[in-house]
Amino acid sequence: MDSEQLFLDQFEAQSEAEVSWLKKMFVFITQHVCPVLTGPAPPAADELLTGGAVSDVCVSLSVCVVKTLQENMAATHTLPVSYRPMSVSELVSRQHLACVSHLSWSTNQHRVWAREAELSLPGNKALPRVNLLLIGCLREGRGGEWRLMDSSGSIRCECLSPSPQWLNRPVFLPHWNYIPHNASGQDEAGGFMELTGSPVLLCPGPEQGLAAVGGGEGLRAVGVREAAGLLHNRVRGQRLSVCGQVGSVCPLLVVAGTTFFCFTLTEDKHMLPVLVKDSSRLWWSQCVCVGQSVCVTELRVCVLRGWRGNNILCVTDQSEIHTDYTPTHTPVDDTHTEPQSDTPPSVMSHADNNGCEEAEPETDVVQSGVRMKWSRVISYQGTVTEVVSEGAGLYMIDRKVGLCLVYQPSLRRRLRAGDRVELHHVHFLYRPCPDFPPSMLCTCLRSSLRVTGFSRVGLSPPDSACPSDGALPRLLLEKNTGVSEYLWACHLSSRLSHSLVPSVVMRQCVCVLSWRLMEFVWRRGTGGRRDIYSEMLDEPHTCPLAQYSVDPSVPQYLSLSELSQSLQSTCWSSVCLSSLLPPGGSSLTSSQINAALSWSCRTLSSDPRTGETLRRRPLLLVGVLELPSQTSEHKHTLQLRDGAAAVSCVVTETSEEEEGGQRAAFNTAWIGCLVCVQQFTMVTERFLQSDFPSYQHLDQDEFITHKHCRVYLQFSLDHLHILSPSVAMATHLRQRGVESGGDITDRKQTEKTEGGQTAGRKRRRREASSSHSASSVAMTTGPVGVGSWPCVSVVLRVEQKEGVSWRNTGAEVGLTLHFSIRAAVIGPVVSWGRDPKNGPMTDREIEKEKEEKVVLVFSGVSARWFPLLQPGCLYRLTAANTQDPSVLIGCGVSGWSEVELHTDSALQVQSDWRFHTLTRPLLLHTFRQALSPTVLSVSDVLDSSSELVCFQGLVSDRISVNNRTTDSGHTHTGVRLTVCDQSGRSLQVYLDLSHTPYPPGLLPGNTLLLSAFQRRLSRSGGVYCSDSPVSSVSVVSLAQSSSARPPPAPMMHLGLWALSREQRSPVGRVKGHVVCFLFVQLQWSCSLCGSLYTQSCSSSGCPSSSSVFQSKAKLVMDDGTGEAHVWFSDDLVRPLLGLAGSQWEGLQRALRVKGHIRVYPRGRSLVCDADSDNSLLHFLLCVCSSDVVCRSLSLTCRKHNNWRPDEMRTFSRGDRDFMTRTTRPLQLTCLHLDTD
Ligand SMILES: [Zn+2]
Ligand SMILES: [Zn+2]
Repeated sequence: MDSEQLFLDQFEAQSEAEVSWLKKMFVFITQHVCPVLTGPAPPAADELLTGGAVSDVCVSLSVCVVKTLQENMAATHTLPVSYRPMSVSELVSRQHLACVSHLSWSTNQHRVWAREAELSLPGNKALPRVNLLLIGCLREGRGGEWRLMDSSGSIRCECLSPSPQWLNRPVFLPHWNYIPHNASGQDEAGGFMELTGSPVLLCPGPEQGLAAVGGGEGLRAVGVREAAGLLHNRVRGQRLSVCGQVGSVCPLLVVAGTTFFCFTLTEDKHMLPVLVKDSSRLWWSQCVCVGQSVCVTELRVCVLRGWRGNNILCVTDQSEIHTDYTPTHTPVDDTHTEPQSDTPPSVMSHADNNGCEEAEPETDVVQSGVRMKWSRVISYQGTVTEVVSEGAGLYMIDRKVGLCLVYQPSLRRRLRAGDRVELHHVHFLYRPCPDFPPSMLCTCLRSSLRVTGFSRVGLSPPDSACPSDGALPRLLLEKNTGVSEYLWACHLSSRLSHSLVPSVVMRQCVCVLSWRLMEFVWRRGTGGRRDIYSEMLDEPHTCPLAQYSVDPSVPQYLSLSELSQSLQSTCWSSVCLSSLLPPGGSSLTSSQINAALSWSCRTLSSDPRTGETLRRRPLLLVGVLELPSQTSEHKHTLQLRDGAAAVSCVVTETSEEEEGGQRAAFNTAWIGCLVCVQQFTMVTERFLQSDFPSYQHLDQDEFITHKHCRVYLQFSLDHLHILSPSVAMATHLRQRGVESGGDITDRKQTEKTEGGQTAGRKRRRREASSSHSASSVAMTTGPVGVGSWPCVSVVLRVEQKEGVSWRNTGAEVGLTLHFSIRAAVIGPVVSWGRDPKNGPMTDREIEKEKEEKVVLVFSGVSARWFPLLQPGCLYRLTAANTQDPSVLIGCGVSGWSEVELHTDSALQVQSDWRFHTLTRPLLLHTFRQALSPTVLSVSDVLDSSSELVCFQGLVSDRISVNNRTTDSGHTHTGVRLTVCDQSGRSLQVYLDLSHTPYPPGLLPGNTLLLSAFQRRLSRSGGVYCSDSPVSSVSVVSLAQSSSARPPPAPMMHLGLWALSREQRSPVGRVKGHVVCFLFVQLQWSCSLCGSLYTQSCSSSGCPSSSSVFQSKAKLVMDDGTGEAHVWFSDDLVRPLLGLAGSQWEGLQRALRVKGHIRVYPRGRSLVCDADSDNSLLHFLLCVCSSDVVCRSLSLTCRKHNNWRPDEMRTFSRGDRDFMTRTTRPLQLTCLHLDTD
């Protein structure tokens, strides 16, 4: 009571409020601060009991506190009655929000401060202000921590530039932030303080001058150079005091339970390493800053075994550090040192970092490959503007420079947006990874990162996208990959966690998955071990960041929704309609233009090195392969799905036959596999309905009545990288491994022999098996475990597959998807205790005596099996959850005892039945012979006489055949494909698409298998094919590249070609000499109706106002075996006549008035239309008879269909009439003028 009065007497309290505030302060200091000061230290226990000395201390301390507070107020000598003293434990337990306290600030000052913070970091809120007083004692904690302590507890403090003199002194904190535990998500209980201003020392401490410590004992502080000499000649027991400038400060490391750090002292060119390992001196790590002048006392010379046995100065428990020390003695030979050479590198900031952005020419991605580059070591200061990934140690500074801290131990205090940082000895990398900003700063064990200003905003809530579990840094520590690879994996991980989690993979798998994908894509092994002491102390400096790889064409991941959006959005914008027309498009009439525009397609490559692509870098896709879903617009294909989207895929795979060609995908084990696709083609098919009146109107969108596009992918399953196999795939690969003698470990050899199909297959197997063995990636979808339920199965060989179509089955309302297959039954129905899936075929599944047939009917949901059921392949059909064999037996089953399938019985495939491909290694040896149905070539079909054919051919051309217009706007009901074989002989195939789901992949360059097509003869005897209700089409091999051309048409001799009555080779190449021109016609025609056009259309009532210039020529050609009449039109006429572009334009102008001209250079006595312009006529006659035009030509021609029998002609000679039979010469239309 007395002491409180004693205290109150010191102040002239103005009001009741002030009195009560003063009383509260006194109680607080007595309770919470005094015990800390007096507790463990000298004042003896008996004194504490008597209380006399204690209360004296309390009174004087309280007086000191209040006076200091008054001095620190904005309005001096007022009492801060609105501030409440708070104990550490109360702060930790009561304050759940991050907050700030500024004792001396006015409300306005705080408002300005908050506004500045929020302006510089949009979207963030400045810390709210609290009026709390924190008074306690600063003490060292564990592992180099500083803590504020009062009698109730302690809390970690982060300081900007702490002074050693603050330790063990009562202080009050005028400016601080408090970051509670929950806001930071850190595991430390109770959060921490950030001292934004220096603490105010409450009572004078002992003098800690250098003289007091060192001088008194006669120890002399030596310079770095002198000490370096002493370091080399170690004297046992010798203690040194060294003064110098701090050159570098390494981060605190914990190795085998020991915490330590190193720093270096420099003077001129000399450098001394100092090791701080003594736990009572670890707090120095917060005081020592690069560039500071310090004096360190009581250092011992030690041998550091970890650092190749080099000597190092060690801090002892008697050592003291004196910061901002000015040496009293001047080095004698200071004059002849190079000026500035040893000062720390000048600090760069954003303003002057133009110097660090290397001016590199933007080289073409396609050409530049991987390069190794050296990083530069710099210093930098800036503001953290974004926490990219806390767990992966990635930040942005000044909005444009990336910061990667992963090569250092993680920071005790997490960086947050708004922190000012100063980095010394940091590696500057330029474009280490194209997914990050070009300028990257990376810290190694030599680097120091010091926060020079605490952020004014709180922590943003942890981003769910960032791999915060820290798996990536752990993998880096384990594998020591380069920084470029690490950054790529981090980026991929954040992208995958958006696109795959949670529906495809679990969150905790994403990091491992990304890492594995990085190792696969970059094809890098693990790096060398890191040597921590060399990294921290060696001169010259070496570390994993010294060199880095730069690969501007490293693959870029795209999610499937990004991919399809990107393709859809660029589908029309990327194309100029006139480019979709055939050559000479300007001479096409309206109907020709609209027909030509009605279908077009765009194929993009996944890799810019192999063709046009979507991005500048090769692309990479990740997804699960699945059967088409009910909502998929493509029912013919598998789909690739990720968390947000699915894309249809036309897939092929290597056939199991010995020759190993490509065929349509058949292996059901792919269903449910998580795969990475790197080599693929992106296809956009465009459908356009238009009524453009002429070529000139193509830029006017109002003539487009409807347009849409279809997007899908094409790839071979051989090029996939399996990230997580399905159960069936794992079984399949295991079987493969057994089959090939288990040589799956023989990696080096296979890598060297990569290239062929077999190598591709081997690689796939190898990768898949490796990913399976390390199957820490578990999937949440796909087949779940090996089925443990009983089931029945039967093995079938598909012999024929019908095309999928929409049918009114009557079972359901409206149209349902439907198809059927005809299959041979290999053996009896077998029952199993657990689902055998695609396990090896057993003896009891085979019955050799008879092979019966069954028709499997798929409709509705079960029609989704269409893409993977292929003729010639064996499947195990399983019906789960039953032991009743009759479910798999077609109608008309006789009885239980004798379970068998009746010939051609029909079986409706239920939605829960599964097909499992039994691939070759799984089969018993008796079934290993090739069993594929007879597939003809195009030539075989041309020469055959059967009515229903199954053949394979390369698509060389495709056009839409629109024979009706529907209200729905879809008029592309028909397609005409031109398919050819290796001989170049070709055939036209007509497909009616009105009752089938749209089949993707019918593109020029792809090879198709067309089964059950009708071979027909045209009226003129030409062979063509058309589909029937049972026909099916599948893509068996994909275009090698978009520029690949079909083989040239076969070479024909005119004499033989003329004789062949049947139209077996409609297209051929001929080489011969131009005998003469029969006629040349040039005409301006109406673009709508084709009539002659002069000022307007000559046809009455035609509204057209546009015309096209059309030309035609006919000549006689002789190749030595015979003659032919060859027709040329439009874009072929000008090169035929050898006219320059300007001459051609001149002709067009000259004909504007009259509209047309027709010349007959030979025959009919050189007549032409009576009143034609003579000069024009003579010009054309001259051209037609010139040697330039009458030359040897090489042409690709189509033989005319309108073949007619020989003509009878009547000649008159004198008064007699003669009748003669004349053979009509071979009529050809030139398709292409070959230049040679
Ligand atoms: Zn380094
Ligand atoms: Zn007209």
